[in-house]
Amino acid sequence: MGRVLDSEIKFLTGVGPRRAELLQKELGISTFRDMLYTFPFRYVDRSKFYSVREIDSTSAYIQLRGRIVAMQMMGEQKARRLVATLDDGTGRIDLVFFQGIKWMQDKLQTGKEYVAFGKPSVFNQEYNMVHPEVDEATPERLATLGTLSGIYSSTEKLRNSGLGNKVFSKLEATLLSKVLDSVEETLPQYILDSKHLCGIKSALKNIHFPENVQALVKAQERLKFEELFYLELSLLKQKLVRTSGSDGVVLKQIGNAFNRTYANLPFPLTGAQKRVLHEIRADVLSGRQMNRLLQGDVGSGKTLVAILAAMMAVDNGYQACIMAPTEVLANQHYNGIFKYLEGTGVEVALLTGNTKAAERRRIHAGLEDGSINIIFGTHALIEDTVQFKNLGLAVIDEQHRFGVEQRSRLWSKSAVTPHILVMTATPIPRTLAMTLYGDLDVSVLDELPPGRKPIQTVHWTESQRGKLYEFMRRQIKAGRQVFIVYPLIKESEKMDYKNLEEGYMAITEEFQAPEFCTAVVHGRQKPENKAFDMDLFVRGKAHILVATSVIEVGVDVPNASVMVIESAERFGLSQLHQLRGRVGRGAEKSYCILMTGYKLSDESRKRIDLMCQTNDGFELAEADLRMRGPGDFEGTRQSGLAIDLHIADLAKDSPVLSQARALGEEILAEDPQLQSPRNALLARHLKEMRFEIKDYSRIS
Ligand code: ADP
Ligand code: MG
Repeated sequence: MGRVLDSEIKFLTGVGPRRAELLQKELGISTFRDMLYTFPFRYVDRSKFYSVREIDSTSAYIQLRGRIVAMQMMGEQKARRLVATLDDGTGRIDLVFFQGIKWMQDKLQTGKEYVAFGKPSVFNQEYNMVHPEVDEATPERLATLGTLSGIYSSTEKLRNSGLGNKVFSKLEATLLSKVLDSVEETLPQYILDSKHLCGIKSALKNIHFPENVQALVKAQERLKFEELFYLELSLLKQKLVRTSGSDGVVLKQIGNAFNRTYANLPFPLTGAQKRVLHEIRADVLSGRQMNRLLQGDVGSGKTLVAILAAMMAVDNGYQACIMAPTEVLANQHYNGIFKYLEGTGVEVALLTGNTKAAERRRIHAGLEDGSINIIFGTHALIEDTVQFKNLGLAVIDEQHRFGVEQRSRLWSKSAVTPHILVMTATPIPRTLAMTLYGDLDVSVLDELPPGRKPIQTVHWTESQRGKLYEFMRRQIKAGRQVFIVYPLIKESEKMDYKNLEEGYMAITEEFQAPEFCTAVVHGRQKPENKAFDMDLFVRGKAHILVATSVIEVGVDVPNASVMVIESAERFGLSQLHQLRGRVGRGAEKSYCILMTGYKLSDESRKRIDLMCQTNDGFELAEADLRMRGPGDFEGTRQSGLAIDLHIADLAKDSPVLSQARALGEEILAEDPQLQSPRNALLARHLKEMRFEIKDYSRIS
């Protein structure tokens, strides 16, 4: 059947070259297969009739039944339209036609009863319906309306070219009658049986034209499963290819560097940190390249895991690099490591965009001859002409700030293939992470170091600013420090800096020197000023740090116990959570204060409320996912990972996703090459698939 489904869409009866071009441009449909797999995005119950009186601003597609009581032509030229007034006994509504006027004039007769199906809109403060589907309400016609009717996504252009829902649906019907008989099953019988899924023919027929609700649900289940199953199968296959290679350097020794660092730790590792280090250790012993994603909520102690992993490389004569997304953070990582280094003999260095030329030359030489063991830095590490002697491990912190491209450049800087550890504080459900991040293995730090006190989060509005200052004053008097963060969004950068500046002025006015010291950090400062102010705050000399969201990703000041987020409604959930994670690291009770204006959109209010309700990053991430969908998920947008799904939704269908992945794992464990006859169909279908997934093994 492959052949028929590969036919160009212009050859479908009713399409032709002009519509074909539109379908391609507007909906990406170029073949019969594309069309067949373009499903309705929702369904309406056509057995139900609404009354005109019921219509309100929330009405989507509805069906009315009533008499046409008047017809008239209105407007001039472009606005020329036929207006037919329908009366159903509860009220009247205008049916408006700009196109096909003549045809409608012939079809509609005043006094007769019709069924009108469409979406109400408002014109001149009255509801009307533009270009509804209209049928005479004869008993025969009413019987053929069926129950559920699919609504396909459309565009202005398509509608204007007469390719509205009714026509589109008709084309689907034509297509089905032409190809359904020859459609071949895409899942082996044993999967259909074990998962209780309906066959492909029944699924395709019912997804477009459901016989009833049960049949539609069955069809959706089957098609979602199929889609996610093949997605997972192809990811797992790719992973199999990578992990069967033998290009990973073996880090066998545990030696002085690791052991001394470990002994220098002022606290025991958490259980989760130990577990993850074991996972990493198993990877680097395997002879295969590690590609691991480490997820851990803010404050879960990822940095330490990175440092200990780096020591594993050093103990085996390899170098390690630890990349951070911002200068501030790279600095902090670098400065933070010295307290663990005593007695290790490990040489470390820091390379950022601001490293001076002489120092830069020294570092380049040290990396090339291997005298520098661990290098910290920003993306300057990638952009620079850095060459490593033998890079054994690359750690990328907060990976979503690094594009795929950037990462791939790093691996070309060493003769050996480094192990890769990507760390992120954006916790997302495991299976989803494994899907979104391609074939990376996933570790989770699901335990915070002991002694953390939960952070209390409150929402205050502008009228409570006095109270805010009072609260800050008390905290500072008690010896604590305070963050105040302003949003920084590219599109309105200028305005944002202005807000920050005004905020800073107001704070210095309110909290005057010499009693109080306020530092300020933002992207427009000279690097040395930024470093100076940052340092003031880190060393506890400044009471308040006013900053843009640059501090979001990782600054560690345990004595800071208050996080004030200005214009909190402008931040996303995961960003708010990251920011909040900057406090609550010390022994004192900490607070996060979300400042907003009085008026909030529903969605902003939801975000703010969620923040006040929970401290759990996973819970927030899942809520975020539900609210925004995974395409929008921070990080995935930039990750270059495009997964084009027809029917499944990675966020909402996560149980199906997990099932699909489990089945894929099971099958590949038994039959890695998909050579057994019962898997022949899988092997063949997998080859035909066109998931747009970046192959992570190739960039690493
Ligand atoms: P994140 O995962 O957000 O990067 P960090 O690595 O910055 O977290 O760690 C947060 C804080 O917790 C740091 O001050 C770090 O020294 C401390 N920390 C890390 N591991 C432990 C531990 N096992 N016990 C106590 N404190 C720890
Ligand atoms: Mg961190």
